Amino acid sequence: MDWRQNVRTAEPYVPGDQPDKKGMIKLNTNECPYPPAPGVAQAARDFACGSLRLYPDPACGLLTGALADYYHVGPEQVFVGVGSDDVLAMCFLTFFHSDRPILFPDVTYSFYDVWARLYRIPYRTCPLDESFRIVPEDYMQPNGGVIFPNPNAPTGILESIDTIEKIVKANPGSMVIIDEAYIDFGGVSCLPLIEKYDNLLVVQTFSKSRSMAGCRIGFAIGNAETVRYLNDVKFSFNSYTMSRLSLSLGAEAVRDRAYFEETTAKIIRTRERVKKELAALGFSFTDSMGNFIFASHGRIPAKQIFEALRAHDIYVRYWEKPRISNYLRISVGTDEEMDRLTDFLREYLQGV
Ligand SMILES: *Cc1c(COP(=O)(O)O)cnc(C)c1O
Repeated sequence: MDWRQNVRTAEPYVPGDQPDKKGMIKLNTNECPYPPAPGVAQAARDFACGSLRLYPDPACGLLTGALADYYHVGPEQVFVGVGSDDVLAMCFLTFFHSDRPILFPDVTYSFYDVWARLYRIPYRTCPLDESFRIVPEDYMQPNGGVIFPNPNAPTGILESIDTIEKIVKANPGSMVIIDEAYIDFGGVSCLPLIEKYDNLLVVQTFSKSRSMAGCRIGFAIGNAETVRYLNDVKFSFNSYTMSRLSLSLGAEAVRDRAYFEETTAKIIRTRERVKKELAALGFSFTDSMGNFIFASHGRIPAKQIFEALRAHDIYVRYWEKPRISNYLRISVGTDEEMDRLTDFLREYLQGV
């Protein structure tokens, strides 16, 4: 008998590189290029470090309250965690507990199959159609749960509320989790549907549209019963997930609606402008509604462009995976960063 037989082996998720080079342009992990709301910096300056000797509020009331106000739901309908990755991991553990496979797209956020394997949850992937759209009927087969991002990642394609509702309605016997990490960049959230369907949970994050990837805040909104189940699992795992500092800065970020709307509008404007420039350079892409563009070049393989960019300290994301190995996922940075990207590409493409 070898102790290794008792190890819970895992095949971990591989996050995008976090290079830290002077002058680099980092467009590989969909961070926001703008700082968090000004109130966040003020709250950080005002933060009473003496309070760090005490445990934080395990119920995270400050943050769930701020989110409940913002989204017009009850605080008992909000669950928060250490980034939406933590929230999603808790959702997998809580709601995906069936012998039937959970369902998600073949091309999607590559953490889902990692959690499924970690928790020994059976899963089946449903192929997106040839234009990378979800086929709603695929999610009407017997299943132990459904999860996908809307807009999807890394394609950026947004599905309509009607499509989401059809899928939720067809699955009264399982939880449907919609990962809205990118919903604030021009999509319409399916949040209103939680009033109508108790098997729907909506997950969002502060990492992209609220410029706080480094703070690690994510949340789920559902009904009081689903949130209770999530909290029961969380309190069986780690009661104090959110630090006092995260709670305080997170609540502050939610308060500034104007800054949030201005920042997301700026990113959308830059995205649409850069789409036109990339089209002129021979790229084609999906109609991304995220803070990134999922692009493929008509002549030069994506991998080659990815390496050329990296050699010039411009970082984008590339996956050597079926169906998407000729695409680059380019996060939307500031206008200046995007100009440097397109300037480089213009010159590079002339020479190859
Ligand atoms: C970025 C991302 C997340 C996780 O973000 P956190 O930083 O953990 O909040 C979850 N789902 C999708 C689809 C993402 O792109």
